[in-house]
Amino acid sequence: MGFFDRLRKAFAGGGSAPADANFYWVYAQCRRCGEPLKGRIDLRNDPSQSDEGDAWIVRKGLVGTGARRCFQTVEVTLTFDLNKKNVTDSEVTGGKLISQEEYNALLSQPAEAEQPGSE
Ligand SMILES: [Zn+2]
Repeated sequence: MGFFDRLRKAFAGGGSAPADANFYWVYAQCRRCGEPLKGRIDLRNDPSQSDEGDAWIVRKGLVGTGARRCFQTVEVTLTFDLNKKNVTDSEVTGGKLISQEEYNALLSQPAEAEQPGSE
């Protein structure tokens, strides 16, 4: 039993799946309404090479769901190195970049403090 547990753990913890390597998730928070936003960047198609040819630039517009009656676009500009592995520069208008952890934390925060009507 313990053997299979270890085996499963080895597979689960073996880094990201190859299919996901082509995608980069960007997380941001709208400055106006505070809504957490995320967008998927296709590293194969979305980036365009910089004028100097030494970096890849991606522009992504993130729009909220409208649940907070805010339709502001958060414009994210990311600069990747030539390997498209690392973000070397970032610029955001209308909000700020956040981590995946912050995104999840904001998502789990109820918009209004409401008591769950259990029992
Ligand atoms: Zn907003």
